[in-house]
Amino acid sequence: MRVLVTGGAGFIGSEYVRGLLSGRYGFGEPTGVTVLDKLTYSGNQANLAPVAADPRLRLVVGDVCDAALVDAVMPGHDLVVHFAAETHVDRSIVAAAPFVSTNVVGTQVLLDAALRHGVERFVQVSTDEVYGSIDHGAWTEDQPLAPSSPYSAAKAGADLLALAYHRTHGLPVVVTRGSNTYGPYQFPEKLIPLFVTNLLDGRPVPLYGDGGNVRDWLHVTDHCAGIALAAHRGRPGRVYHLGGGTELTNKELTGRLLEACGAGWEMVVNVPDRKGHDRRYALDTTRARRELGFAPRVGLSEGLAATVAWYRDHRDWWEPLRARDREATAAPGVPATAGPAPATSARTAALP
Ligand code: NAD
Repeated sequence: MRVLVTGGAGFIGSEYVRGLLSGRYGFGEPTGVTVLDKLTYSGNQANLAPVAADPRLRLVVGDVCDAALVDAVMPGHDLVVHFAAETHVDRSIVAAAPFVSTNVVGTQVLLDAALRHGVERFVQVSTDEVYGSIDHGAWTEDQPLAPSSPYSAAKAGADLLALAYHRTHGLPVVVTRGSNTYGPYQFPEKLIPLFVTNLLDGRPVPLYGDGGNVRDWLHVTDHCAGIALAAHRGRPGRVYHLGGGTELTNKELTGRLLEACGAGWEMVVNVPDRKGHDRRYALDTTRARRELGFAPRVGLSEGLAATVAWYRDHRDWWEPLRARDREATAAPGVPATAGPAPATSARTAALP
């Protein structure tokens, strides 16, 4: 099986690629894995370093919105796992255009090419954020979409397109919606790596509003295992929820991170709440458990401890990213204005 992984140099996509090439998912060894990634500020070739020497891996640096490129890359792939996206809510509040472009148009370009070239399975990797906010209980997959941010609205648009390609054209699409994901190699703008790298540097951490927003946390290895299950066992046209079953308020999570980093509450600065901030997310994962055999394995305490240890031991990975993106770390509501210039034309990159 040949697999095309878009966004495979990002946080979750690179974990999926490392797992795939290590044979971690148990659905047979892939004969080839192509990563198509624009290497935006959050994409990083270093994330693929552990598997860079594998002859089955090819990195194509390019944009999923580039229809000619996607049409050239797609042939010969059996499975597409689509991670590529603009992913940071705060950035989408400041500037929504790249989110609509990559998340919506990019998905449509990929779906068209997958259809044209007879791809056997297309996995649209999505998020619990497409449902908006829920005070009590948990969403099932038939919950109407009510996204709050430009990020989640663009992801919802992509999900609907993917499902429409199944209904209209019979493209074998599966959509996964995962909860807040954490682990190694996450760009240090999202809450956990931002807080951990700040604390390791002796800097304060910015906590939004009253800190009462509730998130369900899923370790990245469990998220990727769920995506692999959906790719191989999921029913076309179906949505699957991948959640960790571990809800915490941001304040509770902050307490755990302070403890893990040996810091106290004096390191926490309360900052004005994010505009449109969803109060709580919660996924009902019954379908994924029953139909796919999905079962998260990494407990939150164990996963957080390992994640903090990883950032402590990998300053060489995150310090250059922090230096390049310094202003994004001042407060989560102030995204960096510029990452590296995006690659506009494709090239096959030498892997590190
Ligand atoms: P990330 O920001 O770490 O990685 C995104 C990757 O996509 C980067 O490598 C980037 O270079 C690439 N990319 C961006 N625009 C591109 C374009 N136009 N063409 C090609 N490549 C492009 O994000 P992540 O956290 O790894 O998220 C991956 C996917 O999982 C996203 O679709 C996201 O919506 C979804 N998801 C994330 C979470 C989470 O908590 N991180 C939870 C649920 C779902």
